[in-house]
Amino acid sequence: MTEKPKKKAVLVALRNALEHNPAVVYKGVFIGETIDVIERHDWMCDVLDFDVDGVSLTKIIEILSGYPDLMLLWAEVHHAQLAKQVALLCREVSPDTRIFVFGRGSTFIPRFYSAHPFDYAHVSGDREAAISSVLTHLDGQRQRLAGVRASEVHDPALSGPGEWMEAAKWPYPRLSRLPLEKYSAFTELVHGTNYSKRIAVTVSKGCSWGCAYCGATEQEGASDRRRDVSSILDWIQSTELSCCESLVHLYASDLFADPIWIGQFCDMYRDREMSFGWRGVTTTKTLQDEQLILKAGHSGCKELAIGIEHISRQRNVSVKSSTDEIRSAVVACARAGISLKGLVMLGYPGQTEDDVLYIEELAAGWGMTIRYTGYTPLHRLRSKSNADLSLVELNRFDRRTYFDSEKSSMRSSFFYEKISKNGGYFYPPGGG
Ligand code: SF4
Repeated sequence: MTEKPKKKAVLVALRNALEHNPAVVYKGVFIGETIDVIERHDWMCDVLDFDVDGVSLTKIIEILSGYPDLMLLWAEVHHAQLAKQVALLCREVSPDTRIFVFGRGSTFIPRFYSAHPFDYAHVSGDREAAISSVLTHLDGQRQRLAGVRASEVHDPALSGPGEWMEAAKWPYPRLSRLPLEKYSAFTELVHGTNYSKRIAVTVSKGCSWGCAYCGATEQEGASDRRRDVSSILDWIQSTELSCCESLVHLYASDLFADPIWIGQFCDMYRDREMSFGWRGVTTTKTLQDEQLILKAGHSGCKELAIGIEHISRQRNVSVKSSTDEIRSAVVACARAGISLKGLVMLGYPGQTEDDVLYIEELAAGWGMTIRYTGYTPLHRLRSKSNADLSLVELNRFDRRTYFDSEKSSMRSSFFYEKISKNGGYFYPPGGG
């Protein structure tokens, strides 16, 4: 008896030609986890990562000429035109291929990504649940699509509410299917040879802060959900990392939001005599327990980042905390041997050049390094119709370089000088 041929998916991670994207690990976590979802459905999956695969039009046509049943586009808002170009090409080369979009793009401009030439956009609930429901649907088992908006060519009744999955059911990245050597070479090219090699794994989803410009609360929910500590350590052990060279990025919106979990992680790390280094992004408010920070430092924690966003010289208050709280986090991390980075949004509403200089003075006094991103008002795009969006230069909405010279009192030369001097890169879900 001949076996039924497997269905084929192609997973495409986009990047604009002019984009500076040093965060392959951040993206790698989603790519690796998505491959796992697809292969668990017994589909085949090719991956095309624009950052590392040397993409050309010929390459895309070649992949589409394999007539995949589904193309999944991992897209940001600023990829909109490129995503559309790739989707239109797909319509020509392989008209029966369905096109599904996920990532920050479909969170902030769902109308754009769920209209022709796209078929489906992930808009709510966990993306794994959404992808899984689309695969099941394409396997012929008609069901509501979980948190997916279907374009008008499909039955509107297909679109169902999003689902938040139990953490035990979240996929782990299929490292064997990721181009780790290419990532490593890319990291060396972008950051130099001394930069640590990294892998990333989702340990927690959800953020209660609900910052308007950040998609984390919509994409992951407002409450913190965490994987079981032993399951994560089992997975890390199974990767056979070269511990001396590698860092594991524990992907979370607010890593220290659950102090009991952090304590358990540290205890189990030491009980198992593990030696890998780890890092993550958290908030200043949750990074105040000196004993816990010390314990983390003694249990492999090497680097943390906190979202400062903005501090006004006049008010001496950061967006999310007092400056005293930031200072106490810096002091506690220094005692624990943890390097702490402050994530700052350049061009934050009302921010002046003098505020930025003040933030730099404070950080220098505390011994903390800073990483800038542009304050990017993605949330202002949500309510726009596709007609209105067609008047917006969406390719400017790259969070690493967005600057609005009409609204900001800052000189553009000042903005770009700061952005260009950014140090090593952290990859928070939103601003951090
Ligand atoms: S910016 Fe940071 S704190 Fe705010 S919602 Fe996003 S992840 Fe949470």
